[in-house]
Amino acid sequence: MNKKRNWWFFTLILLIFLALLIFGIVYFLNGSTTQWNIDTLHNYALTGNLQNIHMVVSNNVVTISGYLISDDGAITQFSITIARDAYNLLLLEDWFASLNSLATVSDGSSTPLWLTLLSSFLPFIIMILIYVWIFRMMMKGGGMGGAGGIFGMSKNRARQTKSDVKFSDVAGISEEKAEIVELVDYLKNPSKYASAGARVPKGVLMEGPPGTGKTLLAKAVAGEANVPFFSIAGSEFEEMFVGLGASRVREMFADAKKTAPCIIFIDEIDAVGRKRSANMGSGTNEQTLNQLLVEMDGFGTNSGIIVMAATNRVDVLDSALLRPGRFDRTIQISLPDIREREAILRLHARNKKISPKVDWRRVAERTPGFSGAQLENVLNEAAILMVREKKPIISIQEIDEAIDRVVGGPAKKSRAMTAQDKDIVSYHEAGHALIGLKLDSASKVQKVTIIPRGNAGGYTIMTPKDESVFSSIQDLEASIAGYLGGRAAESIIFGDKNVTTGAHDDLDKATNIARRMVTQFGMSSLGMTKFITMQDDAYGKTTGAYSDETAAKIDAEIAKMLDRSYEIAKKIISEHRDTLELIAESLKILETITAEQIEFINKNKKLPQEVIDEKLKREERKEKEERGEILDFSPDENDDTDPTNNSEEKDK
Ligand code: ADP
Ligand code: MG
Ligand code: ZN
Repeated sequence: MNKKRNWWFFTLILLIFLALLIFGIVYFLNGSTTQWNIDTLHNYALTGNLQNIHMVVSNNVVTISGYLISDDGAITQFSITIARDAYNLLLLEDWFASLNSLATVSDGSSTPLWLTLLSSFLPFIIMILIYVWIFRMMMKGGGMGGAGGIFGMSKNRARQTKSDVKFSDVAGISEEKAEIVELVDYLKNPSKYASAGARVPKGVLMEGPPGTGKTLLAKAVAGEANVPFFSIAGSEFEEMFVGLGASRVREMFADAKKTAPCIIFIDEIDAVGRKRSANMGSGTNEQTLNQLLVEMDGFGTNSGIIVMAATNRVDVLDSALLRPGRFDRTIQISLPDIREREAILRLHARNKKISPKVDWRRVAERTPGFSGAQLENVLNEAAILMVREKKPIISIQEIDEAIDRVVGGPAKKSRAMTAQDKDIVSYHEAGHALIGLKLDSASKVQKVTIIPRGNAGGYTIMTPKDESVFSSIQDLEASIAGYLGGRAAESIIFGDKNVTTGAHDDLDKATNIARRMVTQFGMSSLGMTKFITMQDDAYGKTTGAYSDETAAKIDAEIAKMLDRSYEIAKKIISEHRDTLELIAESLKILETITAEQIEFINKNKKLPQEVIDEKLKREERKEKEERGEILDFSPDENDDTDPTNNSEEKDK
């Protein structure tokens, strides 16, 4: 139906253009036969070669037409239009005298001026109308009575679907899930919340690395609440025609309002939500973003629409998006830790034929840093291998090989970790945690994990120990020592030559604090001066309103400060190396440890029970594996890739 309409439309345009073309050609040819000026005409008239002269005199032009008979008898039609000015009239008068009755003259005032004008402007008017029409079609998508605009190009790209994903299809990420469950209740009965005067978030932004289940979670909300689900990717707003984004946003929200309660899901919102800047070429993007902001402000708090968005780059988002009334809730989704990985693996193993002997904990152990999508991929690869090798069931052998494929394959760039990485990151993060533990003024450690996020290998979440607003020199120095604790631990455990690039981000932060202490807080031997520095916007360079000598002094002061804190960090770590070892060990085994577990280690100088249990299980498993008990090779299989060797290699 839509197609048919487009076809008609296309033909119509084609016909109009053809008509214009023919019109133009005729017009042009007509004109070209009479490229004479009045003098040529006058000469022909005097030699008597003209016949059937017809002259139309109107307000300001004179049109003369007729036939020219050349010497060999050929006849050419001509028609010329000349201005009705004094010179021309003089010639014409003279001419009439000689032509006598040959010419007929009619009074041109009978063709009104507007008609003359219209006939000369008509083509342009038609073309302008067509142009305006096309333009409006493009801007207004549904303008032609609903379904599609010109060639369906501005069709609303947001696909409205019913989602049948349930929360039970999402494994791991339980805290994040819990936060989202209440949205479902809201979508089911928005009026309940409205009458209670509760303000429900309009927008929920999910942030996390690719493949961690953001899209999945959004679908699960729609599926559980059983409401329509509009999904669109940020990049689709600008697909095909730039400048359509804003109208697409408008349409999408208009559609959503009609079907509320519902969910709008904008995947990869960073494609439209980038920081607005003075940069050239971001104009259309900016319009789209502005429209998005307008729409989000526009619908009432309790209108039953929830906008969910996903991104893995919250840092590039325009801060306007994160203001209250827009995406006022942000949910961080990180890569799954060992327990979560096990849950995800089990979930995706549900519909596959997998040997009951497969120990999911062990598979989870082998896949640190894998995302949910990668884990799903592992099982898929394993199933493909099973088919290829004509086996009836997936065994640990296929899974092991699938893991290697996923690590070594296209996902090489991703953050899948080797056992060695894990070792280093464990000590590094344990270093941060230990400083937090031992330095009174340092921040309190809330959670430590070796699962990578962003630039950092692992991360340690710390909060200030007290609520005070101001920081003392001591506090700041302790923070610097805390940041340097990771590198200090690496250097003490692995030796100075083996430290890694993992501390890159820490050094940034430590240096920043030190720089501000020197230049802004008057906390160095350079005294109380506040050194004015200016951020050079274009290049992100910092220039200061001080001499080069002062700059050198500042740098030296910063270096001194960092060195001092580094020494403190090293001292603490050497003194409490046993605690460091225990924390690192716990990290290697559990991947994520809590404040309580760290506290326990600190107090009792031994591993928490959870770690000991897990370790025992792991050793048992290894023994069994060595005895070949939990390997389920098919009897006829004679493969030289022995997974036992494999895993030993990795565990070094
Ligand atoms: P993202 O949108 O965060 O990039 P997706 O939601 O598209 O990731 O996840 C891709 C696939 O990975 C999902 O379809 C699902 O099969 C799997 N997956 C990712 N995270 C999980 C999880 N927590 N539980 C179950 N499956 C997951
Ligand atoms: Mg996604
Ligand atoms: Zn670090």
